Amino acid sequence: MTTTALAAYRQQFSIPDGVIYLDGNSLGVLPKATAAAAQNTVANEWGNGLIRSWNTADWINAPRRCGDKIARLIGANAGEVVACDSTSVNLFKVLLTALKLQEAKTERNVIISDIDNFPTDLYIAQGIRDLLAGRNLELQFVKRADMVATINALGSRAIVVMLTQVDYRTGERYDMREITALTQSKGALMLWDLAHSTCAFPVELNACNADLAVGCTYKYVNGGPGAPAFVFAAKRHLDVLDASKQSAPISGWFAHAAPFAFDPQFHVTRGIERFLVGTPPILQFAALEVALDMWLTVDMHALRTASVALTERFIAEVESQCADFGLTLATPRNADIRGSQVSFRHDEGYAIMQALIARGVIGDFRAPDILRFGFTPLYINEADVVNAVKHFREVLQSREYERAEFRARGKVT
Ligand SMILES: *Cc1c(COP(=O)(O)O)cnc(C)c1O
Repeated sequence: MTTTALAAYRQQFSIPDGVIYLDGNSLGVLPKATAAAAQNTVANEWGNGLIRSWNTADWINAPRRCGDKIARLIGANAGEVVACDSTSVNLFKVLLTALKLQEAKTERNVIISDIDNFPTDLYIAQGIRDLLAGRNLELQFVKRADMVATINALGSRAIVVMLTQVDYRTGERYDMREITALTQSKGALMLWDLAHSTCAFPVELNACNADLAVGCTYKYVNGGPGAPAFVFAAKRHLDVLDASKQSAPISGWFAHAAPFAFDPQFHVTRGIERFLVGTPPILQFAALEVALDMWLTVDMHALRTASVALTERFIAEVESQCADFGLTLATPRNADIRGSQVSFRHDEGYAIMQALIARGVIGDFRAPDILRFGFTPLYINEADVVNAVKHFREVLQSREYERAEFRARGKVT
């Protein structure tokens, strides 16, 4: 498939008239097929099938079935991924699992992460430290520039290095292969958050020998608001957990070997389903699966080529059209270490983004001063980029953003 073929996907999405949507990194747009699939799940499977649909519509296997599909999109194998819960909850589960897998190495107590990681990732680690107070866990959250030095210095005391591959503010990307190899050379486990990677570019978890991962499906995947997130655990670790009869990180009934035996004792299931907890949200799964089935037809390398072309073009256009307005590029110029977004810093970033949104150019703002634009080649093309920058220039030149209406902050920014 070529990049030209990618352009054909645009008609499979429902994009409102007059909108240039540069926020697919935060909430992906609606695939046209989703409404009918959701309607079928609601009216037929739920409405008519009722409780029978757990079997007849195979609802019960949705987490595993979607997990196997996600696996193909992130360089993992069937049986290594399961879709469930939110990224935050899944981080809790995989961090606890990392602690279990490293339990014998009692001299280790450090969790390393990036201080600029998405806050929920850091909050979950803090919660685990407090929950397991007796274990004296030490959190080392450091700047990206100090990451390699920190892993070198503290790696032999580390249990796990937990990183989001692409920085949500700047779009800077860690080299998964290099950081994983460095971490493992120190005897620590490598945990990746793929929130801004999945369906943004090719991800090769197994080729990079990743240990554990989590990710999100409502961003680039287009699974819908609140779509189930996912967990990845390498087969070698699942085998160890199975062999040692290690319990589930959250021992809900969906992690039980026989949930419908209603045994009062918890007996953990084998394999990746140990990461399940409770009843899956079937309506969300219906929407997610539509998106996954579309993604399974996409050439991820063609996607990456198109994504780089769009981000390069956007940077070049902004720098030529919007020079002298106080913008600073926050995203790496080197496309090799860039995700699929471009960010600029500006002191008036919030109001500028509100003015852009009022014109139908939808990106988002991330405190303190980041204007963030996501590029999703399945439904954004170079003409959109050129148009968006035209509006960007007009907003800056006219100082339209100084209007009071663009200064009021909503609960979600
Ligand atoms: C978007 C994002 C999340 C979201 O977590 P939820 O539990 O789905 O709200 C978590 N981590 C990172 C790095 C993200 O970018």
